[in-house]
Amino acid sequence: MLTYLSASKIYPVTSAAIDQGVLAIDPVGVIAAIYTAAQAEALKIKPDAVYQGSLIPGLINTHCHLELSHLKGRIEPHTGLLNFVSEVMKTRDTDEAQILEAMFAADEEMYENGIVAVGDISNVVASKAVKLKSQIHYHTFIEAMGFNPRNAKEIFQKALELKQEFLPLLASIVPHAPYSVSDPLMALITGLHTSSDNLLSIHNQETAAENEFFQSKTGGFLNLYDFLGLNLSFYEAPGVSSLQATLPKLPATKVLLVHNTQTTTADLEFAEKQHKELYWCLCPNANQYIENKLPDVQLFQEAGLKITLGTDSLASNHQLNILKEMQTLQEHKQVGFETLLGWATINGASFLGINAQYGSFEVGKSPGILLLEKLDQEIITDKSKIRRLY
Ligand SMILES: [Zn+2]
Repeated sequence: MLTYLSASKIYPVTSAAIDQGVLAIDPVGVIAAIYTAAQAEALKIKPDAVYQGSLIPGLINTHCHLELSHLKGRIEPHTGLLNFVSEVMKTRDTDEAQILEAMFAADEEMYENGIVAVGDISNVVASKAVKLKSQIHYHTFIEAMGFNPRNAKEIFQKALELKQEFLPLLASIVPHAPYSVSDPLMALITGLHTSSDNLLSIHNQETAAENEFFQSKTGGFLNLYDFLGLNLSFYEAPGVSSLQATLPKLPATKVLLVHNTQTTTADLEFAEKQHKELYWCLCPNANQYIENKLPDVQLFQEAGLKITLGTDSLASNHQLNILKEMQTLQEHKQVGFETLLGWATINGASFLGINAQYGSFEVGKSPGILLLEKLDQEIITDKSKIRRLY
């Protein structure tokens, strides 16, 4: 028994948008057929529902930190990444039950907002209970960090143990950021990344100070290491940008670079030569929250990069809502709706390796079906709303 859904517009993502088309869905949400208005009429298909609005596939959030959900509203906006990092460290000691409750609410919020899959950074095992119960597909990125080369083995061992603790959930061990992972730790992590189902994600160029540290061992990061009590005498600046220093250390398998607010043309040229499997995750609302700056999106578009979207955590965002990330990029960077939709769906699904099921309306997939209402002339506004149909 099939259900036939029609709407003002259907966006399959991997093929052209259809006016007044019809989706045929089986009882578990698998797409059985996609018809144009003319085809549906010729076949005398009478839709079970006709919606005012657009049907779009489920959205993919490639960067979140579920375990920081209890920090919603606790960190002052626009104070910069270095301040943000130390604030997060100071506020980690919240009551366990409260942390769990905030994560369940955040998972529910993402589900309601049409998010079907999440790449989630975890430093502890706390989010496991939520992920096991969730209707959302999670790929956990177990994040290792430690800039002191002496601690590399111990940190890596802990990450391996944490990966075991997350079983049977899908998880990969990943480096936190160029400035927080020593060379020996990076080598241990990347040694695990030998197949493309083992995904690598890393925060990249989120603040100007990060490039400064790699270029000349100066700037705000020196204060952070001082605060952490780390003597940096072992470290010599490579004299290039953070990305150019880091990319040669990463494996040839799929890599997600997250934030990229300080990434330049020279970085993109370098990256193109250096690595063939890069995905670039933009978290515009978190960038505005923390640094009050957005990446040079036009540059990325001109370079034809594979772009995905992320919400980051509730510590640096007012909501976990990919539609709101799209709205920010449409308003501030004039990116077209269909382009944004591709970033929010098929590109994320392709990075997470789940594009056989998610990311587009294609026969045989069950990507989640969303009704997007109040999208006027493809402009997302505060009134635009997502309703989950499947
Ligand atoms: Zn992050």
